[in-house]
Amino acid sequence: LTERLQNAFNGLRKKGKVTESDVRDAMREIRLALLEADVNFDVVKKFVKTVREKAVGSEVLDSLTPAQQIVKIVHDELVNVMGDAAVPLNKSEHIPTIIMMVGLQGAGKTTTAGKLAKRLIQDEKARPLMIAADIYRPAAVDQLVTVGQQVGVPVFEMGTDHDPVDIVRQGLAEAAAKKNDYVIIDTAGRLEIDEQLMQELSNIKELAQPNEILLVVDAMTGQVATQVAEGFNERLDITGVVLTKLDGDTRGGAALSIRSVTGKPIKFVGQGEKLDAIDVFYPDRMADRILGMGDMMTLIEKAQQDYDEKQAEDMARKIKENSFDFNDFVEQMDQIQNMGPIEDIMKMIPGMANNPALKNVKMDPKDIDHIKAIVYSMTPKEREDPDLLNPSRRRRIAAGSGRSVQEVNRMIKQFKQSRDMMNKMSKGNFNGMENMFGS
Ligand code: GDP
Ligand code: MG
Repeated sequence: LTERLQNAFNGLRKKGKVTESDVRDAMREIRLALLEADVNFDVVKKFVKTVREKAVGSEVLDSLTPAQQIVKIVHDELVNVMGDAAVPLNKSEHIPTIIMMVGLQGAGKTTTAGKLAKRLIQDEKARPLMIAADIYRPAAVDQLVTVGQQVGVPVFEMGTDHDPVDIVRQGLAEAAAKKNDYVIIDTAGRLEIDEQLMQELSNIKELAQPNEILLVVDAMTGQVATQVAEGFNERLDITGVVLTKLDGDTRGGAALSIRSVTGKPIKFVGQGEKLDAIDVFYPDRMADRILGMGDMMTLIEKAQQDYDEKQAEDMARKIKENSFDFNDFVEQMDQIQNMGPIEDIMKMIPGMANNPALKNVKMDPKDIDHIKAIVYSMTPKEREDPDLLNPSRRRRIAAGSGRSVQEVNRMIKQFKQSRDMMNKMSKGNFNGMENMFGS
């Protein structure tokens, strides 16, 4: 998926201005890419239609950065379909909160039960109890017991000779007696959805009245994952989804279609076999993943789209040689102003969207005007050589620009910081990115 989309966007980028037929081409690529990633056909159709309408309808065609805008529209729409924010667990008003894990065999129910228990202990000092209600494979009970030992959580089990509904009933009684605040029920799976399993799960649901029915789905199963989610949701009215095995080179396709087809939120993602490899699901990060935006270079390229190639080369060389000066700084400010709000651009960097450092990144267009006023009050020599700026020159510049000396000092400091930062970035070091725009 990623490669495919990257190619589509690379195609756009090289052309500069985007025509309506470019949008059509890009949309065809996006459509193929999503289908290749096993996104459900109807979901793809709907998705592409929405994006195309938004792209053609907006000022993309005569925009200065058309490719960037299309990427943003696709990205925003992915987030839109997958939900805007992480959705927390449903909690019961009185203990215990009951969580029922359901899903096909091998999806990761037992592992995820352990991961959730561990997380609840860490986050809330919870005292969960797990119930072993998968009686079809002797190993299943043992597996949950082992997982329980690993995370320090008691497991209620009655071997494999009892009816699962009975086991759950007695397990809940045990939890009531021990005042456990969470009960996690591990149920059986099958290789595919069958009526007998669904009946059993319905019975358990009826008895336990769980606050959460979490469907665990293997993200690597693509299209099948969507059908599975649809089937389970129809019968059990699930409350959320856990997408496992995202640590592989899985494409994000399943996330998109499961959410779209069931309307149920993906609450967690599994990222490995270890019992701490679980994360809250962030739609924003998943959109990044689907689009393959992890590459910082994409962003830099984006910033440079408006430059002609020579200008871009000049800039890159200057940054590398650390001869980036105030003229470049102003030029860059203009670039940034043309790209839209900095906060939005920063959010497109994977890991940045939820980075606390981003909270400090705010740039008022007025600030940019002030910065420009300060730069324009410098002599040409000063603009080329920031080291000339001694206190008396700074006072003169402040008077000339109508800004305070403190502001001039702050701006110069910010300039130097961002110059250093870009220099580091050009050498492949992205740490401290948040300082780039001052704070
Ligand atoms: P269940 O049949 O649904 O209970 O599935 P299990 O919990 O037994 O998991 C099946 C296999 O998938 C086991 O080998 C797990 O270690 C593995 N597994 C579960 N979740 C993940 C995950 O997020 N990433 C990876 N790589 N493996 C996982
Ligand atoms: Mg299991």
